[in-house]
Amino acid sequence: MTIQNKILLLLLLIVATFVGGLTLLKVSEKAKSKAIADTRAAERSRIFDEFLEQRGDQLKVLIEDVPISDGIVRAVVKGDKSWADENITDETLTSYGANAIWIYRSDHSLFFSRNNRYADELKDLPLPREAFDALFAKKRTCHFFIRVPKGWMEIRGSTIHPSRDRFRETEPQGTFFVGQFWIDENIRRMALFTDYSIKIVPRESTATPVRSEEEQGHIQFSRTLPGWDGKAVAEILVEHDSPIIRELNLASRRQFQYLIGFAVVLFLLLATCLIYWVRRPLQLISENLEAANPDGLNVLCAESNEFGKLAQLILKFRRTEDALHKTEEELRHAHKLEAVGRLAGGIAHDFNNLLTAIIGYSELLVKKFQNDASTLEWAGLIHKAGEQAASLTRQLLAFSRKQLLQPRILDLNALVVDMEKLLRRVIGEHINVAIQVGAKESRILADPTQLEQIILNLGVNARDAMPAGGTVSIFTSNVELDAANITARGMELAPGPFVVLAVTDTGMGMTEETKAHIFEPFFTTKGLGKGTGLGLATVYGITRQSGGSITVDTEIGKGTTFSIYLPCQTAAVEPLAAVLPAVESNQNSETILVVEDEEVVRQLICAVLKDAGYFILEANCPSEAIRIVQQQDVPIHLIVTDVVMPEMHGPALVQALLELQPQLKTLYVSGYSENDISDQGVIDRGLEVLQKPFKPQALIQRVRDILDQPLKINPGKLPGGR
Ligand code: ADP
Ligand code: MG
Repeated sequence: MTIQNKILLLLLLIVATFVGGLTLLKVSEKAKSKAIADTRAAERSRIFDEFLEQRGDQLKVLIEDVPISDGIVRAVVKGDKSWADENITDETLTSYGANAIWIYRSDHSLFFSRNNRYADELKDLPLPREAFDALFAKKRTCHFFIRVPKGWMEIRGSTIHPSRDRFRETEPQGTFFVGQFWIDENIRRMALFTDYSIKIVPRESTATPVRSEEEQGHIQFSRTLPGWDGKAVAEILVEHDSPIIRELNLASRRQFQYLIGFAVVLFLLLATCLIYWVRRPLQLISENLEAANPDGLNVLCAESNEFGKLAQLILKFRRTEDALHKTEEELRHAHKLEAVGRLAGGIAHDFNNLLTAIIGYSELLVKKFQNDASTLEWAGLIHKAGEQAASLTRQLLAFSRKQLLQPRILDLNALVVDMEKLLRRVIGEHINVAIQVGAKESRILADPTQLEQIILNLGVNARDAMPAGGTVSIFTSNVELDAANITARGMELAPGPFVVLAVTDTGMGMTEETKAHIFEPFFTTKGLGKGTGLGLATVYGITRQSGGSITVDTEIGKGTTFSIYLPCQTAAVEPLAAVLPAVESNQNSETILVVEDEEVVRQLICAVLKDAGYFILEANCPSEAIRIVQQQDVPIHLIVTDVVMPEMHGPALVQALLELQPQLKTLYVSGYSENDISDQGVIDRGLEVLQKPFKPQALIQRVRDILDQPLKINPGKLPGGR
């Protein structure tokens, strides 16, 4: 179930509970107001009864008045009507609230009657004979209602006995009735007393339906009025419109409506809030994660709530992940290049020894067969092929960072400016060359020849990327990189100030696929015979070997920028070593010790140097070299030695030999760099190195040059006391 549905369900539950609660409230309110109404009705009814009693009691008192009874008894017995006229006056009526009095003899004939003005027409009480019999058979007194022309009349009656006959054991002497009209005024007084509306209705009409009590806040109750035979003859109907109950009902209804309204508003508010606070951010997060576009979360990050925090964490996580991916990719790429580099370096090393022999011997052949045209031509072809192969291995060595570099502190700005002319010539007329040396600090430590190689290679590539013309710009600038910047650019460098050499073109750019392979040797998109695929491999190798790093920014159809970062240097720029004037001595009579484990190369070196007139001592390993020097009486002038050998590397051997012959000069011949001669293939300054493959003539020239130099103190000694 989604969170949205859960929330909706929860809301429904809340509303249901709320409405249920309200209904219960309403029901209980209703019951309460009904209870109030009932209590009030009961109370009123009691008051009403009391009132009725009070009124009836006045008549009761009158008929039970002992002196009157005795007087009446006497008057009736004597037939003395005048007594009645005297003693039962209008005042008697008024003082008891009665409207009429009747006295009957025991034979039920009327003896006396008196009416007040309300009951003028009431001379005779219209009671049938059986009524008298029934009324007085058992009871002393009676109380009933009858209908007379003027309306309803309440009657109290009693048989007449002497007052001493307490138990009424004698025959009654007659009957005494007192009557009172239930006329409007009386009813009004009652209504006033009870605060209710009161009416008397005949018994049969009380079946009329009454108004709904609850709705109207209306209270109604009734009381039956008995006739002479005890049966109900009429009903007193009491009605009351209770403003309090009505108000109570209204109030509870208003409360109910108010609460319902409140619930609806609360619901809407809650729903809106939940949608805005929960659903929206969740949707945003899931959309962004699906779209793999974490930047869309930036809006959410600004919010200072749980989702803001979550978004920040997601963003952080995504960025770390991206950086990790990038670093991983870079690392993978670097490892690949490293592996290819080792392979290339290994091949190049072995090839260099072979090529030294091929080139050397072919050159010797050329020398020897000057008169044999066809042999001369073949030897020339072998020599040429060897040269081409040597060029390839040189580039492979550069890529594998095994090339021997001779770095010095140089001014990159000056070097770029110096190269402008050459660049323009190589790149051609149709392409614009813009040079801007903006770096304020442009001192770097690099091999100038190799750096020129870098600029040339990048320039040529830029040209090839712009067949229809364009602009190649070469800039220098400074930048300070910290660890984060370096990681972000996927470089392997120590933080610090850098000089940047940027070569930008407005050419075709390249695809991601191409970009992923450009530094691999022999990767080219230029077609057979056009590209070697070694240009960028060389650039990469030289840059890395010089302690720098390279980045590529490219866009299809827009162009490409290669940026090379090299650490800034603070030491002074070194001028090129002044060429020492060679001492004139072309006799080539010195003694030279050749140490080389590779047979073909050693034989070649020996042959070339012997041919040049030197006296040659030959050793195929360092131990033999030491032995020869120990046994030799004559001084040895120069040792020509390989660098990487079994038993002992070149520099260590030289160190040992210098102990025996301190004036010994040294020339290293090397296939590729090793840590034993230098760090990272950068040759220590002061060492003389001839790189394989070399031409015999170059060897002769180098040997002569070294022999002609004035003797330096321990020239073969390596820095650091080795
Ligand atoms: P080559 O130039 O012999 O092809 P490089 O190593 O110099 O070998 O270059 C390898 C490949 O890199 C090129 O074939 C080309 O596809 C791509 N490349 C190099 N420089 C650029 C550039 N400036 N613009 C576009 N593509 C380039
Ligand atoms: Mg190229």
